[in-house]
Amino acid sequence: VDGFDTYIFDMDGVIWVGAEAVPGAAATITRLQERGKRVLFLTNNSTRTRQEYVTKLSKFGIKCSKSDIYSSAYAAAAYIESQSFSGTVYLIGEDGVAQEIEDAGIGIVRAKDLFGQKHILPSEMEKMDIPSGINGVVVGQDFEFTWTKLAFATFILHRDHSCLFVSTNQDQTFPSSRTLPGTGAVVAAVKTAAMRDPVNVGKPSTFLIDYIIKHYDIERSKTLMIGDRLNTDIAFGKDSGLGTCLVLTGVSSLDDVRDPTNKTIPDFYLSSAGSMFDE
Ligand SMILES: [Mg+2]
Repeated sequence: VDGFDTYIFDMDGVIWVGAEAVPGAAATITRLQERGKRVLFLTNNSTRTRQEYVTKLSKFGIKCSKSDIYSSAYAAAAYIESQSFSGTVYLIGEDGVAQEIEDAGIGIVRAKDLFGQKHILPSEMEKMDIPSGINGVVVGQDFEFTWTKLAFATFILHRDHSCLFVSTNQDQTFPSSRTLPGTGAVVAAVKTAAMRDPVNVGKPSTFLIDYIIKHYDIERSKTLMIGDRLNTDIAFGKDSGLGTCLVLTGVSSLDDVRDPTNKTIPDFYLSSAGSMFDE
């Protein structure tokens, strides 16, 4: 603990699993804060705003402010801003990412604005009037993903090959007691039809670390990334030059670490974030 000044916690699978708190995780975070450590939170979940995470964390007994929260939704908004973008973004995603992009002053259009709740057939898609000014496509987690949404994104991305194309993250699965499809599955559908890859802004992309460093003036070697997933959290930490700690309360297991095909080896592991001060 003394080796690090800043702790970046993933949330799903680290602080909570589904609706359940990971025992002791909140106490660990409070203890770090009391010792004067900086604690930040970084999630690939794009469905909530940063303010909603402040509220959720407080329900789990963790105090923080909006500026301590970094999410793939916020990353998408920050990335679009960094591209001196003009126009409107077509968004496949939930309200969290919609809000973050709008808060950055960027206009969005979603399928419900264009089609209401209607499913559009290929013949109708051929004839529809396309609003002008859509110069970007953002894909995040979308629990109501449809062929209509996919078809419109495909059209926009093929119409203009310089059109901005961003994914909030590409996690294959969604953290849940039952394995459910993650944003990566939705992104795979869009990129297959688009025939090109999006810029990914969530972990393991290191896009956000530059933002975090600029904002907080932190030292990479004195920063520890704590997460439950090798191919996002730990890969992000390693690619960003941070210390890395895998917790075994979420997606990845020690067997995954030891798998001969795995190249992402964390510096530390803990059975749980709750045991940081015990082990
Ligand atoms: Mg996680």
